[in-house]
Amino acid sequence: MKRNILNLLGLKDLIKDNHLPSLYLGNSVVYGSGLSFRSFSPIDGSKGIEFKSLEKREITHTIDVLKKEFITWQEVPAPKRGELIRHLSNILRENKHSLAYLVTLESGKIFEEALGEVQEFIDVCDFALGLSRQLYGLSIVSERYRHKMIEQWHPLGVVGIITAFNFPMAVWAWNAVLALVCGNTIIWKPSSQTPLCAIACHILLQKALALMPELPQNISSVIISNRKISEVILRNKDVRLISATGSVKMGKEIASKVSVRLARLLLELGGNNAMIVTPSADIELSIRAILFSAVGTAGQRCTTLRRLFVHKSVFEEVKRKLLLSYNSIKIGNPFSKDVLVGPLINKGSYENMQNSIEKAISQGGKLIYGGNRIRKNVPRGGFYVKPAIIKINHNAKIVQEETFSPILYLVEYEDFDEVLKMHNSVPQGLSSAIFTQNVKESELFMSSIGSDCGIANINIGTSGAEIGGAFGGEKDTGGGRESGSDSWKNYMRRVTNTINYSDDIPLSQGIKFE
Ligand code: NAD
Repeated sequence: MKRNILNLLGLKDLIKDNHLPSLYLGNSVVYGSGLSFRSFSPIDGSKGIEFKSLEKREITHTIDVLKKEFITWQEVPAPKRGELIRHLSNILRENKHSLAYLVTLESGKIFEEALGEVQEFIDVCDFALGLSRQLYGLSIVSERYRHKMIEQWHPLGVVGIITAFNFPMAVWAWNAVLALVCGNTIIWKPSSQTPLCAIACHILLQKALALMPELPQNISSVIISNRKISEVILRNKDVRLISATGSVKMGKEIASKVSVRLARLLLELGGNNAMIVTPSADIELSIRAILFSAVGTAGQRCTTLRRLFVHKSVFEEVKRKLLLSYNSIKIGNPFSKDVLVGPLINKGSYENMQNSIEKAISQGGKLIYGGNRIRKNVPRGGFYVKPAIIKINHNAKIVQEETFSPILYLVEYEDFDEVLKMHNSVPQGLSSAIFTQNVKESELFMSSIGSDCGIANINIGTSGAEIGGAFGGEKDTGGGRESGSDSWKNYMRRVTNTINYSDDIPLSQGIKFE
């Protein structure tokens, strides 16, 4: 499988003096000339391939080329752009397992979830293909005699994409295939933990482009670089939209750089997702949902369930059943078939988890399950942990924070209004869920005075969104929406046209100017 993807990508032929190129623009590459750096596999800490850092001018040059290529690409009819994405999705289908192999290798998520990530990539390609024939504007009635107004959507320009390590292909895909179908060119800075995933996506896109040689070939680029160098993308006036996925800290740092030049920002930042289990909930169903949401991807999903509110009438039952199901989870090598929880991404993540557990205990929490590192029957060199459950009062300060590891805060509640207030009292607003058979509770939860998140689910967990809906969250999560629904509008500029087919020049609002 591994050989298959490396051969397919021709990566072996690209290695020079033990280094892979750090910049990919269309079919050309640049090796970099600065300090060497490399990624590490979270599975066993083994070293990845090395890269050399780039010069700022190499990134500026890339943006210049993308800007030029945009001039031609924007005029390619949108359904033709969609055809490119159809070729890409066919190539992805043929290589699904090999791509998932790379996702597991670099991000540490279990192979089954990695396959799911590649499937998401395929799904969003299908969605974008359909969209390529549906980039509709409105027709608006005019207040003036023999006038009409229309709304059109035009391509934007060069789009910058910054992504996190935990969805090393899907998040780029959400942005990239929509941006491309909308007629833009793209520059991608992936997480430095997952460079091969990014290079694979770019090279497969180039393979799709090779099937349509009549199209401009320099519409996509990837830079494997540190944050400092990638700032060039944030500050370059020709990058019209920055779509960034990552922590709230990252969002605040880049917003200050992008906003000063008044460019468009699409932010998909951290979550602090919660679920409410009410007295009428189907407990068996909720336990299954809690388990996947809280420990899937080792608690390293933006939508991971971090706060669980359980009504006092069912609290003991939920706690007992949850502990039983936590006990049954197999933790270990993410390539092994029966493993459900793989490693944390690195040592820093493990240390963060330990710090948060300590803080929670010092703030009155009680660790009722896990939290410790596992060293037996797991690959050496990786950071494998037993997911933690901490019973805690919601007033504890640590509960306000997103710790990007499998810690579930368990909170008992009595009153529905009170739990809604607690639910909405954190700075983040990404995903939320309620388990209830009571229609008043579910409707209230979805209403404007209910959950304040971008995603509010009924009898479903907080993670595992479908590509058809707009994905994103409110407050510190950044307000961006990606993937489905009308998220494509983020990647286009709207123009309102007024057309006069009368013999007069009437002014709007009835103004006479004679
Ligand atoms: P991170 O914030 O450390 O890094 C994310 C990306 O931003 C990386 O490519 C990183 O190199 C880059 N980056 C960070 N600071 C930067 C700066 N100052 N300038 C330019 N680039 C910068 O996040 P991570 O550890 O890779 O991923 C985990 C975080 O991502 C979590 O907070 C998680 O909730 C969030 N996330 C959010 C979503 C979402 O859709 N809302 C999806 C996935 C992950």
